[in-house]
Amino acid sequence: MASLLSRFSPRLGSALRYLRAADPPYRWRVSGATCPSCGASWFVSLRPDGFMTRCLGCRANVTNLSLIPVIRMHAAEHPVSRAYEMSTYGATLRYLREHFAEVVSSEYHEHAAPGSLVNGILNQDVQDLSFEDASFDLVTSNQVFEHVRDDQRGFRECYRVLRPNGALILTIPLHDLAHTKMIAEIIDDKVVFHGPPEYHDSRAGGPASALTFWHHSRTDICDRIANAGFVVRLVDIKLAPSQKQASPVIYAVKR
Ligand SMILES: [Zn+2]
Repeated sequence: MASLLSRFSPRLGSALRYLRAADPPYRWRVSGATCPSCGASWFVSLRPDGFMTRCLGCRANVTNLSLIPVIRMHAAEHPVSRAYEMSTYGATLRYLREHFAEVVSSEYHEHAAPGSLVNGILNQDVQDLSFEDASFDLVTSNQVFEHVRDDQRGFRECYRVLRPNGALILTIPLHDLAHTKMIAEIIDDKVVFHGPPEYHDSRAGGPASALTFWHHSRTDICDRIANAGFVVRLVDIKLAPSQKQASPVIYAVKR
């Protein structure tokens, strides 16, 4: 039934998956709050975390919306004229386009060259960006780096393309682990899993199309990104009362 509906309406299909993932006690928890994207709004929490809390006004989830207050905080101190967002949709990208002079966005297709166009959309691999050194004031990503095979190489590439005082602001799922764990790797062109396989939905590839390589640890994520040269901190953002757990946003600045 759900897959039949999904064929007619991708949005309805995604809403159904969202409902199925909800824990029963949190179904239909609603609270009023200010959305950083669309203003006064209502939020519904189907689980106590930001990922399962959504603004009913702009339909963005709170994990994505939580980047905006951190972007705003950074831009208040360091003017942003050119920004790069690692996707072609979502609340973060909308905000960047409304507030900054030039915004570049891209998707990732494994078999296309970085910098090429796929169906008219810029292709980039964060491990091998085609951009010039020091060409952006801001780089953002939402739930991307758990899918990057060599995430630390990706962080170094972000550092390279940022200007001094530029920021990398991102979200990724953070786990209560002592150390970041590699849950999959590619050896001789084959995926080798170190635990149950995990795939996430992606706009480009569809449901369960993006292989997860990493379970990042809340404990060591800042050090992992600092290795690339950044000064890093976690900022906990809570947008709506119905969201019981804050959404962690990683704020990394190139000094
Ligand atoms: Zn909103």
